[in-house]
Amino acid sequence: MKMVFLGPPGAGKGTLSSLASMRLGLPHISTGDLFREAVRRETRLGEKVKGIIAEGRLVPDDLTIALVRERLAQPDTASGWILDGFPRTIPQAEALQAVKPVDLVVDFDVGDEMILFRLTGRRVCGSCGKIYHVATMPPKTEGICDVCGKPLVIRPDDREAAIRTRLAAYREQTQPLVAWYGKRGLIASIDGSGSPETVYRLFSEALTRRVG
Ligand SMILES: [Zn+2]
Repeated sequence: MKMVFLGPPGAGKGTLSSLASMRLGLPHISTGDLFREAVRRETRLGEKVKGIIAEGRLVPDDLTIALVRERLAQPDTASGWILDGFPRTIPQAEALQAVKPVDLVVDFDVGDEMILFRLTGRRVCGSCGKIYHVATMPPKTEGICDVCGKPLVIRPDDREAAIRTRLAAYREQTQPLVAWYGKRGLIASIDGSGSPETVYRLFSEALTRRVG
């Protein structure tokens, strides 16, 4: 089963991708990981990505597509995969469809207010990286990591203004993919506002409908 997980930042795509990857035994492929891996391995593409990221630019479509194609040619992808963070634009979706047509695109539907609630409440340990949420997963002592006792911080990406910018970019560039895949009969929109287990159940049902 070749799947794409779509959804705005804070929709829980990363969490659901990990769960689905473990339970279905499919590789979870995220473009963020691919970029980091290419840079680490110092490949030709990695060198390019490194320069672009260092300049604070967005990695262009052709380079992203090249990295994804390379990854999807690996032997562990034979029985399928879960793509998270790709495609992000219609040209990327067209490129993917031309080389590896997807079987199912899951659209995690979460409203802006829920996204803001999830992301603005997020706190991260500056030392060990453990993630908390002020309302849904608070530390035992406010502002202090349970594991290592170091102070918790708010990542710059989780400030409200930054979230609104990322959301606007998603709505403008990536949301049109829902209609694009919809026209091809590939989309399953599910309510992503519940707990990870609730969302996973909805995802499982959508998958069963697709397979069955
Ligand atoms: Zn910590």
